[in-house]
Amino acid sequence: MQLQVEHNSSLLQKKSCLICKQLFEMTEAKIIICNEQGTYYGEVCPKCLGKGFGWLSDRFERLNQPKTIVIEQTPVLEIPISA
Ligand SMILES: [Zn+2]
Repeated sequence: MQLQVEHNSSLLQKKSCLICKQLFEMTEAKIIICNEQGTYYGEVCPKCLGKGFGWLSDRFERLNQPKTIVIEQTPVLEIPISA
């Protein structure tokens, strides 16, 4: 995940945050989230941004990860064989 600062020409426009889905007013500099290939994902609100890069990237990974089904291995029951 990468953060990019872009100049925002459309002031007073409300955008929803990619991470928390809250509407926020964009300032002159908007922070956008991209992946390593530079693909645009969305804007981040200042609140989420304040939580730090590590937190953001963790949330981003979770949002973009297909839900994996965790298969719990049940222990094989050993049936005592009595002669
Ligand atoms: Zn947010």
